[in-house]
Amino acid sequence: MSRHDHFSTRAIHIGSEPDPSTGAVVPSLSVATTYKQNGINKLLGGYDYSRSGNPTRTDLESLLTSLETCPSQTIANDARHDASGGESLVFASGSAATAAVAHWVTLSEKECGAGGRDGNGHGGHILAVNDVYGGTARYLARASRPTGLDVTFFNMEKAGEKGIREAIRPDTKLIWLELPTNPLLLVPPVRLISNIVHSLPSDTRPLILIDSTFLSPYYFTPLIPSNGDPPLADITMSSLSKYSSGHSDIILGSLTISPLTNKVRPNVLKGLRFLQNSMGASPSPRDCHLMIRSIKTLSVRMIRHGINALRLSHWLSTKTKLVERVRYPGLESDEAFGYVQDLISKNAKKELQFLGWKFPFAPKSYEGLEEDSLEYTRTLGIPFGGMITFAIKGATAEQAEKFCTELRIPILAESLGGVESLVEVPYGMTHAHLPQDTLKELNITPNLIRFSVGIEDYDDLVEDIEQALEVAVGKGKVNGNGHV
Ligand SMILES: *Cc1c(COP(=O)(O)O)cnc(C)c1O
Repeated sequence: MSRHDHFSTRAIHIGSEPDPSTGAVVPSLSVATTYKQNGINKLLGGYDYSRSGNPTRTDLESLLTSLETCPSQTIANDARHDASGGESLVFASGSAATAAVAHWVTLSEKECGAGGRDGNGHGGHILAVNDVYGGTARYLARASRPTGLDVTFFNMEKAGEKGIREAIRPDTKLIWLELPTNPLLLVPPVRLISNIVHSLPSDTRPLILIDSTFLSPYYFTPLIPSNGDPPLADITMSSLSKYSSGHSDIILGSLTISPLTNKVRPNVLKGLRFLQNSMGASPSPRDCHLMIRSIKTLSVRMIRHGINALRLSHWLSTKTKLVERVRYPGLESDEAFGYVQDLISKNAKKELQFLGWKFPFAPKSYEGLEEDSLEYTRTLGIPFGGMITFAIKGATAEQAEKFCTELRIPILAESLGGVESLVEVPYGMTHAHLPQDTLKELNITPNLIRFSVGIEDYDDLVEDIEQALEVAVGKGKVNGNGHV
């Protein structure tokens, strides 16, 4: 018996053991599409065809399982390997993972699906948060129609306990949550939802899935139980294309099933593996290999994303008059801040404590402290991801666009989570396909900016944002190009 290593150690070593035959410290990329058999169905290493399974993909899946489900420093049979009983499935994109789960809801119980409306497949219900990722909304509401899937997009924050209980129907198979939501960075009451769901019969209750793409397992591990409560979710879904990749150069997605759910409802994994193989959205082993390399630096990247985002959200809220509605859940003044201490992973807490953060967070004044100091930053809140949204005060769509194109460092582009800062205007880009009344209800206005804060030098970012705001909506300083 030994213990699981801490997150950063596992991020580097799990699935990356030196090759026993050559000693290579980085595992070889396994590109074969098919595998020699020693007799009919006598497989050498458990692999027969690469869509169904591939050693490089297996390495990535075991790495993800470890990061999503193994608490640091707990006793395990083998410290180097995942011994949690959880399991991960990697897909060609986050959206392919979403499609597999949606399909699973409508799949018959005989095929290890959730059974759909009556157990025989077709239909079934998903209760989803109302501002889900645009592609998720598109898949659930439109692409999956022929499967009979029924989806309710629901404002869980507003509904309260009674409203949530009433919204769960006898054929509700899954509750789809995102944390934080996109683009508004709302934090749904996951603890409350989990308590409600766990009060229902365990073999028929809906499963809870959390799309945790925006935080990555560095900041948020809802499959790991804390304080004796059941885990907050049964499944985490992640677009690995974002923070896990970190360099805007890989599209991949994953699902991870919690050890507890695997134990109590083993058919969930069977059904999802069946679909991973049958639906064909398998990842390329080359992408899996690059992803394993990317995840090795997840810790160092995420802490820097978080610190830059905390400082920047504070700057935007207090140092310029040109923006409003600044949202960053880690900022002490943010309406979601109350949830953050309950939700932040033990691992992130440990690393932040080393940097001097105290838990529970005790508000302190930053008056008199040097602004360019860690001491000052510690008074602002808690680093919790790298995503910020804000509105440019009174700006038209053209002015918002001007702001984005005037920026010298952050790039105007969709997506997020890369080391480079990216900006986008949800109203005209990622969320443009939403109906006008939904945009209005969610307050996604043409002047709303979503900012994926990169890990560039903080002072360079602030200086650049300040000048772009001035050019777009400020009093106007004449700059080198001569325009006002
Ligand atoms: C990007 C994203 C997805 C979809 O993932 P892809 O890898 O682009 O298919 C799902 N959810 C969230 C929150 C995302 O940001």
